[in-house]
Amino acid sequence: MRLKLERELIVEYGRKLISSNLTTGSGGNLSIINRAENLIAIKPSGVDYLIMKPEDVVIVTPEGKIVEGTLTPSSEIRFHLALLNYRSDITSVVHTHQVYATTIACMNWELPAVHYLVGFAGNKVPLAKYATFGTQALSDNILAAIGNYNACLMANHGIVTVGANIGAAFATAEELELVSRLYYQAKCIGEPVILSDDEMAIIGEKFKTYGQRK
Ligand SMILES: [Zn+2]
Repeated sequence: MRLKLERELIVEYGRKLISSNLTTGSGGNLSIINRAENLIAIKPSGVDYLIMKPEDVVIVTPEGKIVEGTLTPSSEIRFHLALLNYRSDITSVVHTHQVYATTIACMNWELPAVHYLVGFAGNKVPLAKYATFGTQALSDNILAAIGNYNACLMANHGIVTVGANIGAAFATAEELELVSRLYYQAKCIGEPVILSDDEMAIIGEKFKTYGQRK
């Protein structure tokens, strides 16, 4: 079986999506590329995270050809492959419909620097224009929006995060749910103060050396 470690990580972090309230049932999806082997492990379509096993994970080439697996890969395989091919600095993509981030996306707003933790993504979280799920147009819109950010909101759909490893991509999704909630709540009582780009540049530098992050 190829990519044993990556298969196990897809299962482990799929369960963490559920326990962290970032998704329900089989919603959302995750992928990890092994650049040495030039193969990608991706969540199968429509399989409940709590019953998903490492052998259920689908292994594909960067072009999307199935190398191992009997199940259909995630319906959002197009943008997973596009991001992993486009960004050589990342190895993992996480996509969810987490409620507060998706609320902001349903307003077709970007998420501004209302709290310094938006620095997990950059000086803000940009917004990708709406397109039907699973389409090339959606993948194109995400690539156009994300640039060098570690996340982008997807209009009327959800959020996608990327990272040097799946732990980083997951942590970004989790922190951005908090920031999205703070933005939503602050908007309910007034107009929140937004941190400047200069301050967010300082935050970005500090995040490079903060805590145990690798
Ligand atoms: Zn989705």
